[in-house]
Amino acid sequence: MADLQNVLDEIVQEAAECADRGVVASYIPELAKVDPDQFGIAVALPDGQVVSAGDAGTGFSIQSVSKVFTLTLALGKLGDGLWARVGREPSGNPFNSIVQLEQEKGRPRNPFINAGAIAVADLVLAGHQPREAIGEILRFMRQLADDDSIVIDESVAHSEMAHGDRNASLAHFMKSFGSIDNPVDHVLGVYFHQCAIAMTCRQLARAGLFLAGDGRDPATGAQVVSSARARRINAVMLMCGHYDGSGEFAHRVGLPGKSGVGGGILAIAPGKASIAAWSPGLDPVGNSKLGSAALEQLARRMGWSVFRA
Ligand code: GLN
Repeated sequence: MADLQNVLDEIVQEAAECADRGVVASYIPELAKVDPDQFGIAVALPDGQVVSAGDAGTGFSIQSVSKVFTLTLALGKLGDGLWARVGREPSGNPFNSIVQLEQEKGRPRNPFINAGAIAVADLVLAGHQPREAIGEILRFMRQLADDDSIVIDESVAHSEMAHGDRNASLAHFMKSFGSIDNPVDHVLGVYFHQCAIAMTCRQLARAGLFLAGDGRDPATGAQVVSSARARRINAVMLMCGHYDGSGEFAHRVGLPGKSGVGGGILAIAPGKASIAAWSPGLDPVGNSKLGSAALEQLARRMGWSVFRA
């Protein structure tokens, strides 16, 4: 894969020369400490090989990228019954917006805005203590990434808990409609810890490989989800994975993708690759600025857009 390695090396070079790197998230104080000059990219291929460049071995807070994996877990528990609790329509609103929740009677528009991910965390929690649910999510990530060294950054989880008033509002508001079953502090505990999982681009790209392989981890042969479910998760990522920047990402990159305010993005090229890009500086809607630009370049140079014949 010398060609791919060359493309990634060039992308890292271009990123290094870019002066406008966006702004690091500061509403979670622990995230504001991250050095904005970092950039990494990793591509996991169907044979399990991971090709990477830049700071692809540096851990970062995966934040909302975790929502793809908790959605996958919750779908495994509830099946399509999950969609009674959370929709699959783009919100067109910021990730932490509350406005549509009243109109939708406590049913979030999709599982990737904060309200939707909190509703999904409630479903993962069903019948468990928060500690067990957090353990289940972490084990799932380790299994998918084939790497037991993945951990939760407790300082990020606590930082978010201490400044999580907006998320607490969303959870209480949903609970007032009867759409959260568990105690709000339990649900938020799970949500904040899933967001605080720290992974490298190499680990994240590897963990997403089942979504590029029709639900099957092509490296191990494990069928993680059915092929129909993998397609649907990818569809929701394409439509909703970048909040009110989802249309822009689909337009520029042409791949299902999920961003997080830690600056990570997971993008899926079905049948071809699972890609993780990371740079902490964000654009005004909270998506990694250089990460999006890098994925645009990579998809273009490799011909990976899902809309390409
Ligand atoms: N943990 C973050 C929050 O709830 C996740 C948001 C994000 O990554 N977009 O605010």
